[in-house]
Amino acid sequence: MTELSEGDRRVLINHLKMIHTAQQQVELLRKPHDDAAKPYNDIINRLEGIKSELLEQAGVELYHQQCEVCDAVLFVGDLGHTCGDGPVLCAEHSPTWDDAKRQWEERAECGDLSTDEQEDYTVFQQNYAARLAAGTTSEKITYEL
Ligand SMILES: [Zn+2]
Repeated sequence: MTELSEGDRRVLINHLKMIHTAQQQVELLRKPHDDAAKPYNDIINRLEGIKSELLEQAGVELYHQQCEVCDAVLFVGDLGHTCGDGPVLCAEHSPTWDDAKRQWEERAECGDLSTDEQEDYTVFQQNYAARLAAGTTSEKITYEL
């Protein structure tokens, strides 16, 4: 910790006192607004409580995002699709292996792939080849969210 001179210490304490006084004045100005918002905040909190109880009774946990296409509510463990920080999709709107192949090809043709993505694309191509051999490229690519 820095050693303050007596003068610097006095100036600092003076500034801290002024800040504290200003904060108290702002708190007083804010109070009527806080009081006015309280009934609404109480209702919002009660609804959150009901939501939590319903989820607990059902034994499920909400997934942090809904399907980007249809706004379907998703639970942790539901089947769906997400890719990196891209959109989350429900099982119905998840891409098939053929869809993903087309998307990869389009991006590769644009020269849009980073080195890491190029590696991911290579892995995808290997997986796609296995799917093609098994005749399952029209299946959706889903996993537990
Ligand atoms: Zn959907």
